[in-house]
Amino acid sequence: MKPEKEKIILTGDRPTGPLHIGHYVGSLRNRVALQNSGLYRKIFIFIADAQALTDNMDNPEKVRQNVIEVALDYLGCGLDPAQSTIFIQSQITELCELSFYYMDLVTVSRLQRNPTVKTEIQMRNFETSIPVGFFTYPISQAADITAFKATQVPVGEDQEPMLEQAREIVRRFNYIYGETLVEPEILLPDNAACLRLPGTDGKAKMSKSLGNCIYLSDSADEVQQKIRGMYTDPDHLRVQDPGKVEGNPVFTYLDAFCQPEHFDRYLPDYPNLDELKAHYQRGGLGDVKVKKFLNAVMQEVLEPIRNRRKEYERDIPAIYDMLKAGCDTAREAAAATLDEVRRAMKINYFDDTELIAEQARKYSTK
Ligand code: ATP
Ligand code: MG
Repeated sequence: MKPEKEKIILTGDRPTGPLHIGHYVGSLRNRVALQNSGLYRKIFIFIADAQALTDNMDNPEKVRQNVIEVALDYLGCGLDPAQSTIFIQSQITELCELSFYYMDLVTVSRLQRNPTVKTEIQMRNFETSIPVGFFTYPISQAADITAFKATQVPVGEDQEPMLEQAREIVRRFNYIYGETLVEPEILLPDNAACLRLPGTDGKAKMSKSLGNCIYLSDSADEVQQKIRGMYTDPDHLRVQDPGKVEGNPVFTYLDAFCQPEHFDRYLPDYPNLDELKAHYQRGGLGDVKVKKFLNAVMQEVLEPIRNRRKEYERDIPAIYDMLKAGCDTAREAAAATLDEVRRAMKINYFDDTELIAEQARKYSTK
């Protein structure tokens, strides 16, 4: 195991919409904590615009507009450009080149087995016309991770198959071409509710593409309305009825966000979440009361993020400058890895004086 200071973090988000509370608990909250721990050698956070285009190829404007939204959400959550390099994927052309070489190391049937991509293909009705770029995005994601020699990748559970694919590529590359790339490790949230936060509609995953999100940039009123309209237990019709907490997203959100002190502040009748759940399960506790409590908790979590974001919104050109500087730093790191990759793959013809001398010798004796 490497000492902490040797470790490098990389992770990112697709600019397909502003970020939501699923991103926050699945990855963002963890990233900010890791950044602030000061224990990591480098932290790279990127906005995956090229990946977003693989299923939004006909809507470049959407991707373009959301780059700044994601950047503002990052800053709002406390990512600090002085400590973390924030960059835009498409600006690092080295990543395309790496992906192209990695494609030689992965079979079509291996890609077809990726369960996350399978679900996403269904969700997008791509079954009969899967864009090649979308189908191969796990390979490009391996390029993103390995270009920066990332050792740790903090992501939600849906990214597990991508990390496995990246590790396979690294192993195969190193086996064929010699020890060059670093095998990354996934960093999942330790709270089970955060692995894959469900949508407000109760669907398995809160996702920008499903429109069941509470966004970090939603106003206090929007958050309140979304919580009021949330799916709960459909069989919990009257207050006195027993209710289910499993599959009830209101309780899942409480699992993800609620801290013991929230009870003192907003619901002193209950000592903790277990007691609240027990009351709901035996009957006599209405959805409205639980939702009001969830709203109080969520407002407390989201308000500082929203306020910090508003501050940053006042100087948008400065955000683009920050991203540009991040791209420059990221490009340098990716180019250094690409140099090693080219050398390992023996496609570094012009800086290989040995090769040139050898060929010259061969022909001088003819
Ligand atoms: P899209 O629908 O465009 O794929 P998305 O909402 O799935 O968008 P991504 O940009 O694909 O978001 O994911 C960014 C990061 O957030 C990943 O690490 C992913 O695992 C995590 N993430 C996304 N949704 C959730 C969720 N509902 N719960 C926990 N983590 C999530
Ligand atoms: Mg996604």
